[in-house]
Amino acid sequence: MQETLFISDLHLTPERPRITALFLEFLRTRATRCDALYVLGDLFETWAGDDDPTPENRDILGALGRLTGTGTPVYLMPGNRDFLMGADLEALTGCRLIPDPTPLDLYGTRVLLLHGDTLCTDDEAYIAWRATVRNDRWIREFLARPIEERQALVRAARAQSRAATGAKAGEIMDVTVGEVERVMRAHGVRTMIHGHTHRPGVHRFTLDGEPATRIVLGDWYREGHVLSAGAGDFTPETLPLTGNGSG
Ligand code: MN
Repeated sequence: MQETLFISDLHLTPERPRITALFLEFLRTRATRCDALYVLGDLFETWAGDDDPTPENRDILGALGRLTGTGTPVYLMPGNRDFLMGADLEALTGCRLIPDPTPLDLYGTRVLLLHGDTLCTDDEAYIAWRATVRNDRWIREFLARPIEERQALVRAARAQSRAATGAKAGEIMDVTVGEVERVMRAHGVRTMIHGHTHRPGVHRFTLDGEPATRIVLGDWYREGHVLSAGAGDFTPETLPLTGNGSG
């Protein structure tokens, strides 16, 4: 088939049912015709733990399970919103969690997959927070709390982050070019795919005399965004929302 699909930043939440419906439709149709589907972070707006009983989440996990059950591999990379996804979710859906970053041989091209938050090194406050929460001990202790308490903490963290993001300059929430170059060199790649910044695009440049490409995935707010990747070619697609009303 020679086609792999990449998506990220769906930020699925019961507050935007039309986006959830669009994703469920995508899993039933478009996603069944590819070699593999990669979700590069922030599939969910929040994730308080695999035992979160939110009914909408159960629908989504069921649909992911049906896709993997028919033989399409689905890989989930944690984002900054849903990094508490764990082994129970894997068992429930048949999806496989992959680390950030993950190198991938994509039909002969070596590419590096990331969520993208680690590339935004100018946002020092965020990088410091990330270092605090993204370790096994912090995660173990957090997940040991009752689910109601975790849900409340996650909601409070979202509100706080929204306030902080509103006050930050736009450029510090985009990637830092020097960090992109450093990470490409460190992993020996000249192609990178990531999300997180909500600034979709294909950036072509020269790194150490070689052509380099950084592909940024789009979010799922006004429409769905999918990157179709074949052997050496990358095609962004949009999935329109249907029906009336807001997301
Ligand atoms: Mn993100």
